[in-house]
Amino acid sequence: MRNFAYVRAGSAEEARHAAAQPAVMLLAGGTTLVDLVKCGVAEPEKVVDITHLKGLDALRVDTQGAYLGALLKMSRVADDPGIRAHFPAVSEALWQAASAQIRNMATIGGNLMQRTRCAYFRDPAAFTACNKRAPGSGCSAIDGVNRNLAVLGTSDACIASYPGDLAPALVAFDAVVHLGDRRISVDDFFLVPGDTPEREHATEAGEMITAITIPASPAARRSTYLKVRDRHSYEFAAASAAVGIELEADHRTIRDLRVALGGVATKPWRARTVEEALIGKVLEPEAVRRASLLAIEEAVDHGGNRYKIDLAPRVVARAILKMGGMA
Ligand code: FAD
Ligand code: SF4
Repeated sequence: MRNFAYVRAGSAEEARHAAAQPAVMLLAGGTTLVDLVKCGVAEPEKVVDITHLKGLDALRVDTQGAYLGALLKMSRVADDPGIRAHFPAVSEALWQAASAQIRNMATIGGNLMQRTRCAYFRDPAAFTACNKRAPGSGCSAIDGVNRNLAVLGTSDACIASYPGDLAPALVAFDAVVHLGDRRISVDDFFLVPGDTPEREHATEAGEMITAITIPASPAARRSTYLKVRDRHSYEFAAASAAVGIELEADHRTIRDLRVALGGVATKPWRARTVEEALIGKVLEPEAVRRASLLAIEEAVDHGGNRYKIDLAPRVVARAILKMGGMA
């Protein structure tokens, strides 16, 4: 681990200005950054502490939607009565993430920015080939141990999965990331690897997440986050689904449906083909199971992660049927 300088930013503007310099990184809860520094993936010369900045921990929920300051702790958002009532999938996603200690420390801005758990990425001392860490060096995972890695959105350069739970719940409900004055949909904020896996977000140098907004909708109000993992707690998703549904007055026909996947793709993955196949149709188990298969139509496995192609549509179908009152 390389020594680094530590400074506390006096304002968001100062933090943004500092972070525009090379080898300077922002520090929020530190639960990911400190890990990455210790394992040698991140080598900042300076970290800029933003945890105490005022105004970045506001939380409001009203008829228009939710406003979440980037420095809100994960546990604070998960437990908020307005979030639980209007965006249950967001609350459930956060509750199922990490551990109580981490949720009390970690911020939602830091949560979005967390990096892949690909073991090769996180072990530079043992594995030199990692295009995400060292562009052009190759990918150790494609022919290696890839059980936890992605089957959707992959490229020949990288198959790392995006590990976070909050982002799929945000993508499903068209949430927006605020980077100061600039706004970008959460869906567009995350990038697929393509030929440049080192670039994971649509941010420019010096941009900082200041807030996240989520528009209110009946589908968000009737939503859930289903996470399947190797053990019941303190584990990343093998496959997860954020699902929201709105039914017509007949309580049978689907008026609106939102589906996003976690754990199986290189970014939080909106499954629009599943939504389009079911909107306007009667909610019926066989139709839901058939439509859920569309979620993995373009999936590519690399052996160890083949099970995700079977698992993901089942998770999607179960979450939709649960929200439709049929599971
Ligand atoms: P930090 O560690 O402070 O920062 C993380 C990164 O984000 C850094 O690069 C930092 O520079 C950048 N950053 C921070 N804030 C901002 C900002 N406002 N704008 C721009 N960049 C910023 N997550 C899940 O979703 N599900 C899990 O199951 C899960 N399990 C975990 C298990 C373990 C053992 C650990 C250590 C982590 C786990 N996590 C999980 C990840 C955890 O949720 C993240 O570590 C945490 O949310 C990061 O937030 P932080 O505030 O600590 O970020
Ligand atoms: Fe690196 Fe991506 Fe390959 Fe993992 S999958 S070794 S992060 S290039």
